[in-house]
Amino acid sequence: MTQSAPLIAGVELGGTKVVCILASGPDRIEEEVRIPTTSAVETLGAVEGVLDRWAGFAALGIASFGPVGIDRHAADWGRITVTTKPGWSDTDVGRRLERRYGVPVGFHTDVVGAALAEARWGAAAGLADVAYVTVGTGIGVGLVAGGMPVDGLTHQELGHIRPVRFSGDDWIGVCPFHGACIEGLASGPAIAARVGRKAEELAPGDPAWDGVAHTLGQLLHTLVLTGVPRRIVMGGGVMTGAQHLLPRLREAMARSLAGYSMLPEVAQAESFVVLAGLGAQAGPLGAILLGELACVERGRCEDA
Ligand code: ADP
Ligand code: ZN
Repeated sequence: MTQSAPLIAGVELGGTKVVCILASGPDRIEEEVRIPTTSAVETLGAVEGVLDRWAGFAALGIASFGPVGIDRHAADWGRITVTTKPGWSDTDVGRRLERRYGVPVGFHTDVVGAALAEARWGAAAGLADVAYVTVGTGIGVGLVAGGMPVDGLTHQELGHIRPVRFSGDDWIGVCPFHGACIEGLASGPAIAARVGRKAEELAPGDPAWDGVAHTLGQLLHTLVLTGVPRRIVMGGGVMTGAQHLLPRLREAMARSLAGYSMLPEVAQAESFVVLAGLGAQAGPLGAILLGELACVERGRCEDA
């Protein structure tokens, strides 16, 4: 994007905090404001307070915790739909801000935002087909193909795949829906529930990591089989905090694939499965790119 690219407002809506950003890219960030996530009414009011002050931006992008309505033509577009976060189910965000500011609005999951940002400016820069995986409070995947989010009926929910269990392991897991799905076995809270202390207090040599690597390796196996990603970018508090996991994930992925679908790109595991490059900026910058996509689609911004 050039220096003359228009300023876009981005909102990364997270479970504990919201980041509002006015920028055209990482080289031009005019302002960034953090707001704690409280009730929907209070939080969105505070977001509007920030955006009102910035009015004049060319487009707005929102990257939200999910599940969210992303089908532009559906009644629930722009809404946080059925979340376990108290008081946030069926909350309209996209249409409300679209009405208020009258600019093109892009709306998607935080992980798709992060995938777009990592593919433009981060650990997958220059690649059009990327998966971003967050391993944090939850486990989520954002898939981008041809520079666009891979959307159909709705967004991916690949954190809830049921993995084949680690030999001898019958722990029930913590997902309220599936128990021992990927998220129920390998998210930060899952690790904490299994070992009885926070994931950050677990030594790299602790055997509990073996099960985590085995579980995440199967998620990577599945991502390879979609045929989409040319690179898988791993982020989130557990991955960035416990980097010893990364080589173990690559091994677990290769073991699980057992030689199948091992294209040279995949076989070069060190460049195929990588750590996120943008850190905490992936979310806000992803929101900017969602705004940019909406702006280009509506013919109000030039293609970058
Ligand atoms: P969120 O998913 O809510 O955006 P994060 O991506 O920051 O949040 O992930 C939070 C999770 O990461 C928590 O469950 C926490 O226990 C875990 N975590 C944070 N630091 C570390 C660390 N150094 N090692 C392992 N896990 C960590
Ligand atoms: Zn689940």
